[in-house]
Amino acid sequence: MADKPRSFATRTIHAGEQSRVADNAIFPPIVTASSFIKRSLDDTPEYSYSRVGNPTRHAYESCVAALEEGVGAVACASGVNATATVLELLPKDAHVVVMNGVYGGTFRILEDFRGHTSGLTTSYVDLNDLDAVAAALQPNTQLIWIESPTNPLLRLVDIKALCELAKARGILTCIDNTFCSPWNQRPISLGVDLVMHSASKYIGGHSDLTGGIVVAANETLLARLRRISMSIGAVQGPFDCYLALRGLKTLDVRMERQCANALQVARFLENHAQIEQVFYPGLPSHPQHALCQRQMRSGGAVVAMRVKGDHAALNRLVEALQLFVLADSLGGVESMINHSWSMSHCSLSAEQKHGMGISENLLRLSVGVEDYRDLIDDLDTALAAAAG
Ligand SMILES: *Cc1c(COP(=O)(O)O)cnc(C)c1O
Repeated sequence: MADKPRSFATRTIHAGEQSRVADNAIFPPIVTASSFIKRSLDDTPEYSYSRVGNPTRHAYESCVAALEEGVGAVACASGVNATATVLELLPKDAHVVVMNGVYGGTFRILEDFRGHTSGLTTSYVDLNDLDAVAAALQPNTQLIWIESPTNPLLRLVDIKALCELAKARGILTCIDNTFCSPWNQRPISLGVDLVMHSASKYIGGHSDLTGGIVVAANETLLARLRRISMSIGAVQGPFDCYLALRGLKTLDVRMERQCANALQVARFLENHAQIEQVFYPGLPSHPQHALCQRQMRSGGAVVAMRVKGDHAALNRLVEALQLFVLADSLGGVESMINHSWSMSHCSLSAEQKHGMGISENLLRLSVGVEDYRDLIDDLDTALAAAAG
């Protein structure tokens, strides 16, 4: 892109590099070729084999890297695969400090697999408590895994403060930025080394693709990630790269609408008699609202709530909803609702869930791009049904 500094909204449309194969196409072509022909023994074409590099994937990777203010990115088959790719950076028997209440799939890779296959050990800490972080560090601590905001209770981590601590000790930092997307939070500008996304959520934005991506803050890390990605080969295919890049074109307008809608929904819920508690970093009542204002552009598009009522009441609520769909995902243009207890966190014991603050009456909303007045009306009707 031209040298002028452009706004985020403009970059969502124009960032990213296109292959010379069709450099005047208004949208990068889907290149499905597995291999690229060399014209002579001495020919060193830009692309040779699609596991190693692919023009459609490159267009997508370079766009996300530009939006995240990194030097490059590696697109992976899914979000959890992006996490696994990052973990390949670690030597065996490494120790990782992990945010309390991290995404379940991240926990599963760390505990059920890396613990056994590469001797990896973990400490789960509230990363806002820098004394607790310092106390958890061991001589072999190689990585701090951040998630902010967390799912589903939307607790934040002071990214800048944490990265200062990590940098002073030469420890790598990686953040799962899925809940924010680069629209809402730019962790590399706050000192993070690696940014990971489930592109299945806001980056894709249309609930029609599974993907993940890792952005590197420097060339050394990027080169190592590229080597890992081409070695393990769980790369994102060209069709999905196309879908993700197409989704990115509207990231700015989607996020703007979704986050504005979420604030309206959170305000409505906060004043509703049927609601016990609302979790939304964009509300002044959120204990980390000041931090949210410092490091995020808005409170985001996810809202969680505890509803007064038992299981039957929650079921009446969910069944009465006409716009919010009960689903395991988030980040799409359509509004969704999730029951953490029986859905995203169902593999945990009741004790573990209570310990994390996940109660049976907790519901998570992923607010879409619909008209917020219709969304509020939908929730109002459903909350009345829950009250019975
Ligand atoms: C969905 C999600 C993931 C995993 O991504 P997949 O694309 O489902 O593999 C990781 N982190 C967070 C925060 C997520 O919401």
